[in-house]
Amino acid sequence: MPKINENNIPLQQIEEDFLSQKNTKLFILREDLTHPEISGNKWRKLKYNIQEAKHNNSDTLLTFGGAYSNHIAATAAAGREYGVKTIGVIRGEETLPLNLTLQVAKNNGMVFKYVSRNQYREENKYTESFLASLKEEFGNFYLVPEGGSNAYAVKGCTEIINNINIDFDVICSACGTGGTLAGIIASTQKQVLGFPALKGGEFLKKDISKLLNDYSNHFNAKVENNNWELITAYHFGGYAKVNPELIQFIQEFYQRHHIKLDLIYTGKMLYGIFDLVQNSKIFNDKTIIAIHTGGIQGNKGFEERFGIVL
Ligand SMILES: *Cc1c(COP(=O)(O)O)cnc(C)c1O
Repeated sequence: MPKINENNIPLQQIEEDFLSQKNTKLFILREDLTHPEISGNKWRKLKYNIQEAKHNNSDTLLTFGGAYSNHIAATAAAGREYGVKTIGVIRGEETLPLNLTLQVAKNNGMVFKYVSRNQYREENKYTESFLASLKEEFGNFYLVPEGGSNAYAVKGCTEIINNINIDFDVICSACGTGGTLAGIIASTQKQVLGFPALKGGEFLKKDISKLLNDYSNHFNAKVENNNWELITAYHFGGYAKVNPELIQFIQEFYQRHHIKLDLIYTGKMLYGIFDLVQNSKIFNDKTIIAIHTGGIQGNKGFEERFGIVL
């Protein structure tokens, strides 16, 4: 397996006439290039969790995800790379043949436990009785929450910024659980903008504040950046919802800039950034860093479903 690249991440400038007209500079931080299977923020979020699992003498990680989850894919691949067993608790029933996400995870050694959508609900999956039943079935494990977000994940994501070697005004990231954004907020005094991939993303404000608090308490670290906001308009109907306009945007972006985007997170964020540059003044005269958090493996499912090439 190729080694994980943490410290040599390119910053790639995007050239478009509409950007220069607004005197906006846009750079993409290619976190998607950390590793072909453990891409982007998912590695940052796992790094200190794996370290902590080993520190606790645990040789097994257990985590949660949907059938196309980037986090499931990354956890399985990282487990193989670091010699820890992985168990994926997957939402919904098993469907055979396995989709590519789960097939690759299985090839990387992950063992699956399928649970009902009801059991998978936030208020049911972390209960003591459910976790005890998992321990009975699989033995002891180190629990990584869904999406990988906890204080260790935030710490990992504070390192993303180390690869930015230019001055900038604003840094942008897509958000699912908000762990990545929390790490970025904790690592800079610059303005931070999060683009939730879910509908009604305002609730993430509370989650991000809590993650920042957990991180700050756990690592005795000061978080002094209050200059962050969520831009909630670019969810395209909700998590993993897409439309032809978004698909076309991603295809054209690849043709023009030779960077693949994913439909769930980075495509929506960049669509939003382009739209805001063109139709508002907030990015006039600004240098923007947009983090490419990876997730390309998830495109395969859409390609199969819609018969398209992304
Ligand atoms: C998981 C993921 C995110 C969201 O990260 P959070 O820390 O959960 O907010 C963003 N982009 C991609 C590509 C992802 O896979």
